Amino acid sequence: MTNLFRQIPKIDTLANSKEFEGLNRALLLKIIKKEINALRKKIQDESIQDIDQSELIKRVKREYDDIANPSIKPLINATGITIHTNLGRSLISERIFDKTKEVFNSYTNLEFDLHTGKRGDRYDIAAKHLTLLFGCEDVLVVNNNAAAVFLILNTFAKDKEVIVSRGELVEIGGSFRIPEVMKSSGAKLKEVGTTNKTKLQDYKEAINEDTAMLMKVHKSNYTIEGFSQEVGIEELVKLSKERGLLDYYDLGSAYLPKLPYGLSDAEPSIFEILKHSPSLVSFSGDKLFGSVQAGIILGKKDLIKKLKKNQILRMFRVDKLTLSLLENTAIAYLKERYEDISTLKMILQDTKELKKRAQKIVKKTNLKTKPKESFTFVGGGTFPNRKIPTIVLEIDGDAMGLQKAFRDKRVIGRIENDKFLLDMRTLQDRDIEPLCNIINEIAQ
Ligand SMILES: *Cc1c(COP(=O)(O)O)cnc(C)c1O
Repeated sequence: MTNLFRQIPKIDTLANSKEFEGLNRALLLKIIKKEINALRKKIQDESIQDIDQSELIKRVKREYDDIANPSIKPLINATGITIHTNLGRSLISERIFDKTKEVFNSYTNLEFDLHTGKRGDRYDIAAKHLTLLFGCEDVLVVNNNAAAVFLILNTFAKDKEVIVSRGELVEIGGSFRIPEVMKSSGAKLKEVGTTNKTKLQDYKEAINEDTAMLMKVHKSNYTIEGFSQEVGIEELVKLSKERGLLDYYDLGSAYLPKLPYGLSDAEPSIFEILKHSPSLVSFSGDKLFGSVQAGIILGKKDLIKKLKKNQILRMFRVDKLTLSLLENTAIAYLKERYEDISTLKMILQDTKELKKRAQKIVKKTNLKTKPKESFTFVGGGTFPNRKIPTIVLEIDGDAMGLQKAFRDKRVIGRIENDKFLLDMRTLQDRDIEPLCNIINEIAQ
């Protein structure tokens, strides 16, 4: 064993190996140190009998390549799911990104009032645009919608009761569970109704002197069908006003202009919800709204003011980049430049456009298949179980093998009826050329 220790190469000597020529010395030394420590440990544990120098060099090289390249990489989404949480939810269009770019590498008036020369309020940024866009009294932006839920409950319902329907006590994914978030915020959950049916009377009967709020939660990723009933936001707002309580709708995701494929009939737009004048509404910035990760809170001025006074807000505050991206998204909405909002643009595409895209790919590749009609979903916990039409290209061959081969080239497709396919709805124009090259490589 002691012998083996003596055989460990010196860090500098190893770093001078010709295999490492041209690599950054500082990073290389860090990786060699780490690998040599690991080697020491193995010798100590007597899990190796000898030191294979060429194997060590290979390992260092592999580790170097791994670290020197960012681990978050662009990929081609051919799943057809527009708001794919695992693939990063919404895309920021180049146009909106370009407008934000300057904020990345220069100082800004983030908390500086250019008129008075005094300290400004970061929460004023984006708020003016978003307030005009939604036509509400005031807006507050936090890190994500989960933070919005927590902040609202903690501010208005700490040690008090919040009434929620049993049918809306959901888990959203990434183990975000409404009952647990409520508990950690200090609010007391008062469940009413049953899984499938909750009536207005159930809320009425649950109200007592400890009640702070009536809360509605969008079910997001599931639906209750058949014998079911829920209380709409309109009735909840009315009841909360009658009883001098607050009402809050955790909407999860919000869309603005009318959507195709019957989606707008399935669920109201944010404007239809705001018509009922709820006290507070919150939703994610990167779901249907199609911008960056954020929690957007819309509400009455005095309530937003109280939220801003909560010390916890500091922990949920957003960076200038988030504010800038949101502001530019809001401007695009205000100008009705929907083509600048990638998520919206993808959902608005009709199947004719998608078919053209598929034909273009077929023409440029050796694929023998024809574009086929199929269905996909919006994703991201929005419009659960609502199918929307799409166009796909089936790739001939073993579906599992193809899925892996394409994934190795960072193209994520899906398997349907034992066939691997590429969905046209989520492809970007700039994806077409590299995708055609990959198809030609894989699908002979
Ligand atoms: C998605 C969602 C959340 C969590 O939002 P994040 O922005 O992911 O933090 C909370 N509530 C509902 C109803 C949701 O759909």
